[in-house]
This record gives sequence, structure tokens and C-alpha cells, in this order.
Amino acid sequence: MATATKSRQAADDTILDHLFRPMGVDGVYARTHEYENVVDALQRLISRHRPEGTEVFRFPPVMSLRQLEKQGYLNSFPQLLGCVCALHGTEADVSAAVDRAKNGSDWTSETTSADLVLSPAACYPVYPIAAKKGPVPAKGLTFDVAADCFRHEPSKDLDRLQSFRMREYVRIGAPADIATFREQWMQRAQSIAEALQLPYHFDRASDPFFGRVGQLMAANQIEQALKFELLIPVRGEGGPTACMSFNYHREHFGKTWGLRDQSGELAHSGCVAFGIDRLTLALFSTHGLDVDAWPRGVLEALRLD
Ligand code: AMP
Ligand code: ZN
Repeated sequence: MATATKSRQAADDTILDHLFRPMGVDGVYARTHEYENVVDALQRLISRHRPEGTEVFRFPPVMSLRQLEKQGYLNSFPQLLGCVCALHGTEADVSAAVDRAKNGSDWTSETTSADLVLSPAACYPVYPIAAKKGPVPAKGLTFDVAADCFRHEPSKDLDRLQSFRMREYVRIGAPADIATFREQWMQRAQSIAEALQLPYHFDRASDPFFGRVGQLMAANQIEQALKFELLIPVRGEGGPTACMSFNYHREHFGKTWGLRDQSGELAHSGCVAFGIDRLTLALFSTHGLDVDAWPRGVLEALRLD
């Protein structure tokens, strides 16, 4: 390993040791008080940008398996999904599984689906809730949502977690409305990154769609400019990391959940997602491990001064 690479790896290890505690699995960490203080400050900073009339929801880390299936997740990212399974059946069935565990055998093969998945993104549960409200009003709908998310991408990289926090603003309305929403949020994101003195750039992006068909979907997403990301150097090694994303779903969720305007036109949607853990890591890796020594302006922006 070259010396420069070694020292960057050492910097990552120091951040990891300082901010996280291992929990026995790659990409799943206990977070220290110091880290969580910054997470809370960042969440409050994002809340201060909440547009008027926004409806707020905080979702549990699990959601309905059927709802996720219905919106086509299995065609797009089956490799990332985590399902919740449990021991079903009679007392005798459950006891038999426990006995397997006692004998050192795999008891999990006795489990079956609990009709829940670990939420892979914060915004998925909001569309069926919005659909229950009736026709989408002419002024559109805006939501502020958050959840602990899971993606099955075990990695030793401290910015690629299996369990991480996602915060989102979601907009449902006419196509032009979603375009304006996304532009405004890209501008706000820029001013947030500047206030936090984080080096950044924007890029067109694609999601990690599964398989060969997925490659076509990804190319299509880039060509139609459906996804942009704000990237910040988070780790010593490798390129910068996507810390926020700006997504245009077209009528995908409108069609799935029957979201229509007063005249019956399908509603479009878009969301801006903040990777809370990646943004927090970006702050520590840019400004150092001692929060009190961060630049005055950064502490003021976070109201940690
Ligand atoms: P996406 O839906 O992929 O655009 O994800 C939204 C945001 O969540 C991204 O911009 C990242 O900041 C964050 N994110 C996605 N995957 C991970 C991960 N494995 N670990 C930490 N943060 C993530
Ligand atoms: Zn979203």
C-alpha cells in the first residue's frame, strides 16, 4: 500500500474510532454522543428550511412489504432489500425452531415473512398516505419525512452503511411544479453546503438498478436528468460521496397510488433526500474531530456556537 493511501486509510480509521463503536457487523455502528449532537444540529438546520404548509411525518424503520412490492421495488433494487421474518405457527412449531438454535443449527430457516421490510428510503410510505387525502390540490402537496433506512450493501467504508438516517422533502403536483421544487432545493442545498463550508459539486446520477435491464434503466435516468446528486469528499480514499439527491419520479408514484389532480391528470412527484450520516461524516472529515475547533461560521450555521 502506498504511503499516501495508508495515511488516508489511517484518517478514516481515526474517524471511525472516534465517532462510532462497532456492533459486530460491517456498516452497522453505535454512534457517539458527539456525533449525535451534530446529527441533531443538522436535522434542526434542515427543519429551518421547511417550506410553509409542509406536512411532517416521521416513519418507523419498517414498512409494508406489499406497499413496497406494489411500487415495483423488486424490479429495481431487489439486491438492497432487507425483509423482516419471524417465527410463525403453533407453540410446538416455535419450540422446534428454538431447539434447532440450541443444537447449533440454523433456526432462521424456520422463519417466514412478517409482511414487513426495512425501509430502503424515507419517502416510500408517504405516497399511499397522500393518496388517501383525495385529489391533489392545485397548489400541490409538500411533505417532510424521515426514517432509519436499510440497504444491504455491507462495506468497510465508513460512508457506505447498511443502516443510516435519511431525511427528505417530497413534492407532489404538476410536472412544472416538481421542476421548480427541484431547482429551488438544489439552490438551497448549495447554500447549506456553503454555510457548512463543505467542498461540493453537483452531478447527474443514476440509481444502482439491478441486473442487465437495470443498466438500461440507469442510462435512461441519466439521459432524462431524473436524478442529481450533491457530492462531498467524505473519506480520505476514493472519490467524493453523494450526500444529497434530487429526484424526479415523473408519474411513477402517481400511477401506483392513483394520485391525480382535480381534473383527473396523474400527479408527478419529486424528492430531495439528505443523507444525514454522510453529511455528518463530511463535517467531521472536513473540519476535524474536535467540534469546538470548527470554523466559527460553521458552528453558527449549526447553532452549536
Ligand atoms: P438515494 O435514494 O440513493 O438517492 O439516497 C439518498 C441519500 O441517502 C443519498 O444521497 C445518501 O446521502 C444517503 N445514502 C444512500 N445510501 C447510503 C449508505 N449506504 N450509507 C449512508 N448513506 C446513504
Ligand atoms: Zn425520496
